[in-house]
Amino acid sequence: MYRDRNIRDPVAKQRAATFLGMTLTSPIAVAAGPAATDTHCPYCSLQCGMRLGGPTADAPVAVLERPDFPVNRGALCGKGRSAPALLARDVRLTGPLLRDRPGGPLRAAGWPEALDRVAAGLARTRAAYGPDAVGVFGGGGLTNEKAYLLGKFARVVLGTANIDYNGRFCMSSAAAAHRRAFGLDRGLPFPLADLPHTGCLILVGGNPAETMPPAVRYLRELRENGGTLIVVDPRRTRTAELADLHLQPRPGGDLALALGLLHLVIADGLVDEEFVAARTTGFDGARASAMAHWPDRVERITGVPAHQLREAARLFGTARTGIVLTARGPEQHSKGTDTVGAWIDLCLATGNAGRPYSGYGCLTGQGNGQGGREHGQKADQLPGYRSIEDPAARAHVAAVWGVDPLTIPGPGKSAYELLDGLGRPDGVRALLLAGSNPAVSAPDAGHVTERLRALDLLVVADLVLSETAALADVVLPVTQWAEEDGTTTNLEGRVILRRRALDPPEGVRSELWVLRELAARLGVPDGFPTEAEQAFDELRRASAGGDADYAGISYARIAAEDGVFWPCPAEDHPGTRRLFLDRFATPDGRARFAAVTHRPAAEEPDDAYPLYLTTGRVLSQYQSGAQTRRVAELNAAAPGPYVELHPRLAERLGIADGEPVAVTSRRGRAVAPARITDGIRPDTVFMPFHWAGAGRANSLTNPALDPVSRMPEFKLCAVRVEPAHQEASR
Ligand code: SF4
Repeated sequence: MYRDRNIRDPVAKQRAATFLGMTLTSPIAVAAGPAATDTHCPYCSLQCGMRLGGPTADAPVAVLERPDFPVNRGALCGKGRSAPALLARDVRLTGPLLRDRPGGPLRAAGWPEALDRVAAGLARTRAAYGPDAVGVFGGGGLTNEKAYLLGKFARVVLGTANIDYNGRFCMSSAAAAHRRAFGLDRGLPFPLADLPHTGCLILVGGNPAETMPPAVRYLRELRENGGTLIVVDPRRTRTAELADLHLQPRPGGDLALALGLLHLVIADGLVDEEFVAARTTGFDGARASAMAHWPDRVERITGVPAHQLREAARLFGTARTGIVLTARGPEQHSKGTDTVGAWIDLCLATGNAGRPYSGYGCLTGQGNGQGGREHGQKADQLPGYRSIEDPAARAHVAAVWGVDPLTIPGPGKSAYELLDGLGRPDGVRALLLAGSNPAVSAPDAGHVTERLRALDLLVVADLVLSETAALADVVLPVTQWAEEDGTTTNLEGRVILRRRALDPPEGVRSELWVLRELAARLGVPDGFPTEAEQAFDELRRASAGGDADYAGISYARIAAEDGVFWPCPAEDHPGTRRLFLDRFATPDGRARFAAVTHRPAAEEPDDAYPLYLTTGRVLSQYQSGAQTRRVAELNAAAPGPYVELHPRLAERLGIADGEPVAVTSRRGRAVAPARITDGIRPDTVFMPFHWAGAGRANSLTNPALDPVSRMPEFKLCAVRVEPAHQEASR
C-alpha cells in the first residue's frame, strides 16, 4: 500500500514522535549539574546516548538530554527514559541467594559462602565428568569487557568448549550470511547517518518504530530527501505504516520474495553488469536460482501479489543507490542464513554494496549484540572475531592469555544445543549463566526450563530475580549500566563507552569481580582484572590483527570522538565508518553471491495446526521482560501478552476481542487475550514474547536450527487457535 509522505511539518513530526513513544526534547527537566555523567541506555543496540544527573525524588539518577551524541541526538524511547527505575533497591537483587537442597527455598547468603559454593560445584563437576560438563551461557547485553573475560574464564579457568550466548538467538543468521558474502560481518557496514541519503531502502522483518523509536528519524529523513521506503512484514506494523510500499508475505516467505525480486531485476535489465563483473563472483548461480522464481510462483509461495513484486523490483532496481536491512523477521528461521543471502544477492546484482549510501545491513537487537559476538563468548570464536579453529588465531590469543595454545578448547555447542543437553549424561551438568533469561527467551521454553531444572548446579548472575534466576542453586547480584564502566558496540560497529554514575547498593558486585574471585578459587589467581578499562586494554591486544580489531581504540578516544568504528588497528587510525569501499574482506576481494533456493519452513501449517504463529516485540517491553516488567511505567503501557488475529479469522473461530484464546503447537500451549486487527494476515497469528507464565509465547516456538548459523526457528511455527473456554471443555 502507498502512504502519504507529507511528514515535513514540525507539529506532525512531534505528533508522530509522541505516537511512537519517544521524545524529541529533554527527557526530564533537570539541569545538568557538575556531576552529570555521559553514558548510554542499558537496552537495545541503538545504544542511545544519555546524560545522568540527579538524584530525583523517585530514582537515584535522572536521565538528562544529551543532544550532542550523533546516533539519537537526545531522543530516547520510554524504555531509556525510565531506566533509572531499575536502580531502585526494591526491584533488584541486593545480596547473593543460595538453595540448600533441590526444591528448597532460596535463602540470603554472604559473598564468601556463595562464591565458595560455586567454585566447589564447578570443580566437582569438572573432576567427575570432565571440563566440557561445565558450561557458560552469556548474553548480548554484557559489555565487551564482560564478554571477553567470560570467554577467557571458560577457556582458561574451566577449560570447557561449552560456552555460547543468547546472541546466537539474535542475529547469527545475518552474521553467517554477511561473512559468507563479504568475508566479514558487522551489523551495519556504514553509519546510520547514511540511510537518509540512499535512494531506496528495503527493511525486511524489522519494526524500529517499536524496537528502537529514535532510529525512525533516519527513515523519515530518507523520505523527506525523496528516497523510497519499502517494508516487508507479515504485519502492518507501526514501521510499515511509514512506508511507501508495504509487502506482506506469509511467515517464511522472505527467501522466495528476495529471489522473486532478483528475478525481476534480471528480467528488466536492471543488473549492474559492470559492478558484478568487477567486484563479485558467483552471479551465474544466483541468476539460475532467481530465474526459477518467476512472479506468479513467488506470489503463490509468499501471498504477495505479483504487481507489488514488480513495483518493488522497479523501485529498488532503478534507485540511484539502495540499501537492504534485515532484522529478526527473515533471520530467525531454519533457513535464515540462506534468506539473508538472497537479500544480499539482490544488493550485489544491483551494484548496491561497497559503495557510499548502499549495501546490506542487519539491525542487531541487544545492547551489545554486536560486540558481544566479537570477543569470545560464542562457541566457535576467540576475541577479535577470530575462528577458534584457526591455529594462528589460537596462538595469538594464547600469547595474550599466557597459556599454551593447545590448552584452548575447540568449538563447543551452539546455544540451543547447549541448553537442550543440560543435565544429560553427555551434556553440561553445571552451568554459569550471565545476562540471559532462557526460561522465557529460548525456543520451546518449557523444554528448556525442564533441562535447567535437571542441572546438578545452576549459577545465575543477574540484577533481578529473573525466571531463570528463580530456578538457580546460586544467584549472584551484579551491577548494571549506571553503576559501572564498560564499552558496548552498537549496531553500526561504533564502540561506545558507558560511564559509572553512582555506586551500586552494598552487597552488589560487578561480573568482573565475580570472575576474578571464582578464577582465584579455581587456581587461576591472575589475569582477571576488575577494572573495566584494564580489561578493555587486554581485549585490545587480544583483538589486534583480527577482523574486529580494537587495538587502536581507547576509553579516551571513545569519549573524545563519540565512539570509534572498528576495525581500528592503531591509535592514529581514524576507525572505519564504511567497510568494503575498496575491496571486500574475502581472499580475492570480491563479494560472493549465495545462489540459494526457496525451501519450506521446518514446520508448515497442516490440518492439526492450521495457522502460522509469528512472534516479536512491543514498544514498552524489552526481550524476556526481566527488566522492563519491573518498571511500573512500562508495565502500565504493556501489561501482558496478547494474541493478534485478523477479523476474518476471529469470526471463523468465534473469538471476540479481548477474549482469552488458547494457542497450541506441537510443543506447548499459551493463553492470552485476543487482539483483533486487520493489520495481520488472516492465516497468521502474532504473540509478543516478553512474558512468562501462561502467556509465554516461547512455549510454542520451534527449536529447529539453521544448519549454518544454528539459529532456531523463532519466527514461524504451526499452531491451532481456539477460545480458551472451548479448549478447556474438550
Ligand atoms: Fe534505549 Fe534502544 Fe530506546 Fe534508545 S531506542 S532509548 S537504546 S531502548
